[in-house]
Amino acid sequence: MDNNSKVRVRFAPSPTGYLHLGSLRTALFNYLFARHNKGKFILRIEDTDQSRKVEGAVENLINVLKTMGLDYDEGPDVGGDYGPYFQSERLEIYKKYCSGLLEKGYAYYAFETEQELDEMRRVQQMQGRQTMYNRRARHLTENEVKEKLASGVPYVVRLKVPLDTEIKFTDIIRGNVKIETNLIDDQVLLKSDGYPTYHLANVIDDHLMGITHIIRGEEWLTSVPKHIILYNAFGWDVPKMAHVPLILNPDKTKLSKRQSDVATEDYLKKGFLKEALVNFMALLGWNPGEGESREIFSKEELIRLFSIERVNSAGAVFNIEKLNWMNSEYIKNYDLEKLVDLSIPYLNKGGIDTSDLVKTKRVVFAIRNYISKLDEAPQQARVYYKNDSLNDEQKKIIGNETSKRVLSLLISKLESLLEINADNFKPLLSEVQKESGVKGKDLFMPVRLALTSEEHGPELGLIAYVLGKNEVLNRLKTFQK
Ligand code: GLU
Repeated sequence: MDNNSKVRVRFAPSPTGYLHLGSLRTALFNYLFARHNKGKFILRIEDTDQSRKVEGAVENLINVLKTMGLDYDEGPDVGGDYGPYFQSERLEIYKKYCSGLLEKGYAYYAFETEQELDEMRRVQQMQGRQTMYNRRARHLTENEVKEKLASGVPYVVRLKVPLDTEIKFTDIIRGNVKIETNLIDDQVLLKSDGYPTYHLANVIDDHLMGITHIIRGEEWLTSVPKHIILYNAFGWDVPKMAHVPLILNPDKTKLSKRQSDVATEDYLKKGFLKEALVNFMALLGWNPGEGESREIFSKEELIRLFSIERVNSAGAVFNIEKLNWMNSEYIKNYDLEKLVDLSIPYLNKGGIDTSDLVKTKRVVFAIRNYISKLDEAPQQARVYYKNDSLNDEQKKIIGNETSKRVLSLLISKLESLLEINADNFKPLLSEVQKESGVKGKDLFMPVRLALTSEEHGPELGLIAYVLGKNEVLNRLKTFQK
């Protein structure tokens, strides 16, 4: 690939206030594709729809992309040679190109009011026809147009779709697509408020920003013919296209809020790790190919293996159990120090005091095999901080002669131990068992009750390790007498 054809791809969200999982995947595929090809990944904010403006949406979007590690080479906050990267700051550019289209006869003014358009649609619906603009304003004379413009009648600019022909294109994922142009609407390009529509702004920017490949959601496939007409009208090359299939609920309907969380932020909040989310989303509709049955891939491996040709054309089912499993794998194998840092806010939120860092680290070590996401940490950790008084039934168990014998023996063995580590407590219990002849529940229950005031819980070796020698001795001694 020579320098001129260097890959440039973009993620072009319209900020809605949160990052939908589908958009996250689109961003990720663009990112992986750019990094794999040593190209550029660009963030462009498509914010020309004033009615959909949401306060703080852009900041939030940028934050989530950064948290997810999808760093871009050009964009609103990092700059670049092709800016501005906010469409709302490019309005003059769109107007200029739109005027060019009007001059060359590729677009035309139309003056219908909302009511007239509604009526047009109503009649078409009644007649069972496709609802679209009836192209009436194409037939206005030059003078009629001039007069209306001069007297300030509100107008839009529409695309003059070439009739009686076909648009053909090849999508990297969907294959060949063909459509008769008579079925294509004379799309509004410039709205009456002077803002461009998505179609006009998107095509102009993709061209001016040198985009070589458009990778985006399948819902935009139907817009492609209009875009190709625009590229042709401008005399520009059409970028290569790849329309990524939808993400589906398990019942094969489109992933929706009603069936699961759809905002990336929600998953991050629950304590899914970014590495697990990246891994999981990458495998949603893409696979690394034959001979690769693994499911766990680092971002670097994904970059190395990614190819857009291997994206499946069928919808990808979002399987939350698989995400839970994958996240638990990442938690199990994560760098412990980092996992501690990530877990502390969750533990604190659950009311657990983490100021004793040595203990916190041991707790996280102990619970990492039992949680699938970080918001489960407090519930699993609680037992290591418990020291309640026992109920009558439990007091009876711990107060009987056998229990006392077990506790005394254990105390004496513990006293000669330097410190408790993750492996050396259980052998002590075996020794106690041998010497006292007490086994099973009679052996374990008094120890468990003394250490946690609970009858069930994690392995005793783990509990003793987390509490540490002094604390274990203190608790055992409380019940020895
Ligand atoms: N602004 C569109 C969106 O919100 C971009 C579609 C495209 O990538 O062309 O998804």
